[in-house]
Amino acid sequence: MSSYVQRVIQKVVERNPNEPEFHQAIKEVLESLEPALQRHPEFEQAGILERLTEPERQVIFRVPWVDDQGKVQVNRGMRIQFNSAIGPYKGGLRLHPTVYPGIIKFLGFEQIFKNSLTGLPIGGGKGGSDFDPKGKSDLEVMRFCQSFMTELYRHVSADMDVPAGDIGVGGREIGFLFGQYKRITALHEGVLTGKGLVYGGSLVRTEATGYGLVYLVDEMIRDKGKSFAGATVVISGSGNVAIYATEKVQQLGGKVVALSDSSGYVYDKDGINVDTVKRIKEVERGRIKDYVNTHPSAEYHEGTGIWNIKCDVALPCATQNELREADAEALVKNGCFAVGEGANMPCTPEAVDVFIKNKVMFAPGKAANAGGVATSALEMSQNSMRYNWTFDEVDAKLQDIMVSIYHNAADTAREYGHEDNLVVGANIAGFLKVANAMLAQGVV
Ligand code: GLU
Repeated sequence: MSSYVQRVIQKVVERNPNEPEFHQAIKEVLESLEPALQRHPEFEQAGILERLTEPERQVIFRVPWVDDQGKVQVNRGMRIQFNSAIGPYKGGLRLHPTVYPGIIKFLGFEQIFKNSLTGLPIGGGKGGSDFDPKGKSDLEVMRFCQSFMTELYRHVSADMDVPAGDIGVGGREIGFLFGQYKRITALHEGVLTGKGLVYGGSLVRTEATGYGLVYLVDEMIRDKGKSFAGATVVISGSGNVAIYATEKVQQLGGKVVALSDSSGYVYDKDGINVDTVKRIKEVERGRIKDYVNTHPSAEYHEGTGIWNIKCDVALPCATQNELREADAEALVKNGCFAVGEGANMPCTPEAVDVFIKNKVMFAPGKAANAGGVATSALEMSQNSMRYNWTFDEVDAKLQDIMVSIYHNAADTAREYGHEDNLVVGANIAGFLKVANAMLAQGVV
């Protein structure tokens, strides 16, 4: 490791103590940038890494709200505006009890490179709260969202910072947040993406992360003579990303045999029925174990273990660090030939090493799950035009974007001497655009 990279990592760790996820994301990216830093000594002189690793702005605020019993609850809200070199800050809001600044910083940092890779003009940011939407009534969620936006509105706008969904934030939450923003500011503008279709949302945004993941992995495996047709696929998670990845894999002739949530996983040897999962998760807001109620031949297993199922392709779409070294070894042993990250940083660094060492094709999240935010940027374009593209128009653009991301990452990896290593390729390709924009804009 060069002394420049080492110094920057050490500074980040000192300045952001007790934030292991942020340290992990920084190390993973910075170490892989070495070949680009060697070729461009001007980046060190301009302090590009020091600036990239320090968010431009961080806001932390109190979110008081009243529960259904009339009791006041207090959560912590935050928005971290990481980098605006190539466009307004863009990135989701996560509502989950594990949210703290270290998680939002790791996500915001990743978002810079992901957004750059889409080729669209969006900077990187992320936000959220330790509020847990699980088990809350619609009215409690509304009161929380209204309170959250009553502070957040000061820091966001269609040309400054455009949040969207992430874990725990879907169409319902975006609707409540948008309603409150409009009420406070009197502006009906594209300040959030993932909006409902009747008030400025984009077709395909709901499907985009899952579809995009499969478009990119499809391009990657076809490049090496493989395809989804007849492939057995294991997907973790059962939220928005997992559901639409399942749907697209099935459209391409693959068989998805398992899905999961934080309690356990279902295995359906006949192939998961995606309509059942949509009903359970999108309508009933239930748990994946409910799947066996209507599909008694499927099995439900409590706890982890989903990666021990034999498959050709694995798509981790649940959450960070869900796929560890032993899981990667199990996948390799069972003949898995490709892995695509639908979630953000779902594979630990040790797991990624196992895939790379064993020549398993590996698509990192920054490239593979960029379809969600790319379609968010398409939603922003449509809002600016006050116009809507058709489903097929947006889907075709999404497909083009994912195919270009794959080739950009693969070509960059080759150019920098790391053929077939999409981690290096995606990081360097995403980085160069941002670094050059920062150079052009002076010391800011
Ligand atoms: N939360 C998603 C992501 O991780 C989407 C962000 C967005 O659409 O702004 O990229």
